[in-house]
Amino acid sequence: MPIYNFSAGPAVLPQPVIAQIQAALPSFQNSGMSILEISHRSDLFEQVINDAEQDLRDLMAIPDNYRVLFFQGGGTLQFTAAPLNLATNHHHIGLLDSGHWAQRAGDEAQRVGTKVTVLGSSAATHFDRLPVIEQPLDPTLDYVHLTTNNTIEGTMTTDLPATGDIPLVADMSSNFLGESYRVSDFGLIFAGAQKNLGPAGLTLVIVREDLIGHAQQLPSMLDYQLFADKHSMFNTPPVFAIYAAGLVLKWLKQQGGLAAMTARNHAKAALLYDFLDQSQLFTNPVKASDRSTMNVPFVTGNAELDAAVIAGASQHGLLNLKGHRSVGGMRASLYNAMPVAGVQALVDYLAAFEAQHH
Ligand code: PMP
Repeated sequence: MPIYNFSAGPAVLPQPVIAQIQAALPSFQNSGMSILEISHRSDLFEQVINDAEQDLRDLMAIPDNYRVLFFQGGGTLQFTAAPLNLATNHHHIGLLDSGHWAQRAGDEAQRVGTKVTVLGSSAATHFDRLPVIEQPLDPTLDYVHLTTNNTIEGTMTTDLPATGDIPLVADMSSNFLGESYRVSDFGLIFAGAQKNLGPAGLTLVIVREDLIGHAQQLPSMLDYQLFADKHSMFNTPPVFAIYAAGLVLKWLKQQGGLAAMTARNHAKAALLYDFLDQSQLFTNPVKASDRSTMNVPFVTGNAELDAAVIAGASQHGLLNLKGHRSVGGMRASLYNAMPVAGVQALVDYLAAFEAQHH
């Protein structure tokens, strides 16, 4: 029986990449040493990190005036790093309150003394849609923070808010490389790797050059300018995670790049949404135009039945469908490496469950 992993993160990775890692593990590039053992200062690793950066630049068409930085600390550390590095004029940011992770970003910005103004919120409707900016933008905003994909609530932005000269800072953690965006629409993009890119431990930062270097006396490990100057080698970077992410980037290129991947993701998501929308048992609560292609929450409306769905799914090799603890129900994460066959297997299982229980 095939196993399909619907976890929200760490999440499914491409099988060919796992096989490549396995084959290369004992002796990386015939060095007689494993990738787990080589120095980050070695020529071998230099090639790995340079290739990873170039492949990412190619895939996302990253303009030359943007720096690519390899961080640790997850998306969460960027909730602190972004305001420390970019909110240096007025220490004031705008926030689109689209749910849990946006609120966490706001909390962390406040912890480092940044004023946070909520520009719009969909809290009143339990984040079943994207918030819209409800007021004219205060010119003292250093930037506007946006979560492009809300991993828990299952909403996704493709239509970016118009913020004029005020830079957009995007937490792209859960749809990085899963949806096509124009990098020049953002001042800063960051994403934890463990959903669409690779194993946990690596966080990608893509930042417009002119926005960095304005902060005084940051802790070194949070300093974008320092990381840019040191090519992300200020200290020991997460060598294995960067290597694995590099293989995923090469796999993405082989799949036809981001346009092809985005189209495939939309088709995969449509398969599940179409089923849910005609179902008499299952519902997805999200406004149709704001639905995520990456994370699809759904419920039966009965917690016991939800538990039975999840338990039965496991027996069919459909794993990690439990919804986030804050919302309950089910959630299927359909990242790049989830094959269409996995989504079809899920739909078939849900249809059979419905036939039995309705
Ligand atoms: N932002 C989003 C949108 C997320 O989904 C997550 C993790 N699920 C985070 C931030 C936090 O990421 P990390 O665990 O890498 O700190």
